[in-house]
Amino acid sequence: MADNIYDILIVGSGPAGLTAAIYARRAGKSVIVLEKEVFGGQITHSPKIENYPGYLEMSGNDFAEKLLEQAQNQGAEIDLAEVLDVTADSEGIKHVMTDSGEYLCKALIIAAGSKHRELGLPNEEDFVGRGISYCAVCDGAFYAGKHVAVIGGGNSALQEAVMLAERCSQVTVVQNLPFLTGEEQLANKLFSMDNVDFIYNSVVEAAEGDGELKRLILHNTEKGQSVPLEVDGVFVAIGQLPENGPFRNVAKLAVNGYIEAGEDCMTGTPGVFVAGDCRQKNVRQITTATGDGAIAAVAACRWIDSN
Ligand SMILES: Cc1cc2nc3c(=O)[nH]c(=O)nc-3n(C[C@H](O)[C@H](O)[C@H](O)COP(=O)(O)OP(=O)(O)OC[C@H]3O[C@@H](n4cnc5c(N)ncnc54)[C@H](O)[C@@H]3O)c2cc1C
Repeated sequence: MADNIYDILIVGSGPAGLTAAIYARRAGKSVIVLEKEVFGGQITHSPKIENYPGYLEMSGNDFAEKLLEQAQNQGAEIDLAEVLDVTADSEGIKHVMTDSGEYLCKALIIAAGSKHRELGLPNEEDFVGRGISYCAVCDGAFYAGKHVAVIGGGNSALQEAVMLAERCSQVTVVQNLPFLTGEEQLANKLFSMDNVDFIYNSVVEAAEGDGELKRLILHNTEKGQSVPLEVDGVFVAIGQLPENGPFRNVAKLAVNGYIEAGEDCMTGTPGVFVAGDCRQKNVRQITTATGDGAIAAVAACRWIDSN
């Protein structure tokens, strides 16, 4: 903790953070990874990964477990703590304030990823765990034999819909656009399933029920009409948002909240690097997160060695 100065402190134990830890440890640096929620990051929510090179398929949990084991085997320390604020002192030491005290480090790698986007309904919170979920891997089993809606048409939504269709009686995919935006292969799989239907050009206007969710009110943006959809559950997969507030003192945030840095993962603050989904970039995938993790770690090691 505060009297020990780590060479490198990494915020976040997703694919970016754990890859950075592996590279930094192999370069002989002392490393600590701080994680506020789930070791492994958001990929633990993925039922099946089919696009990570070298693996035909694996579950997100299996991937996360192996990555965590690999980082620990290399000697990375891993603590459960939420980073609340970071400042740099006049000697360049970074002071990382967490909900369990202060940590000090020479170089900081921000690999804080992103969090699921919510529907934005006034009563959304009331139905979380009572019909509204953001994770089919976590909650899908509760809806076996039932009718659920999946909100979204990108890769995450389509993956969740495939998984749910294998156990639910009916899956209705609700997309705000006139087409799906996820991979063709996933879309074709869904088109071939008898218990999956699609509602396009529609957004969720309201969630209704008496304690438990009973129906969604969907607004068709093309026709200007609202119609009810009776469902037992809804899985929201409409994208991700960064949570970079704790780093605003040491990293420049773009208007959308992502951290600005070049492909070299360096921020404008000496000794502060950013990796993975929390960085301003075009492709957010495991491959790009692990790539960033390696680049940020090598850059951080070089920065320490030359300062
Ligand atoms: C359902 C789903 C399916 C997906 N499927 C695929 C797929 O098939 N293939 C693919 O390539 N990608 C997939 N992705 C995307 C992939 O998971 C992400 O691109 C990848 O996890 C990004 O890694 P990361 O390390 O940058 O961030 P994350 O995985 O988001 O990890 C960041 C970690 O930082 C932690 N954290 C955040 N703030 C703090 C703080 N203040 N203090 C401490 N800890 C903090 C978070 O709790 C989190 O654990 C999927 C994503 C989802 C949600």
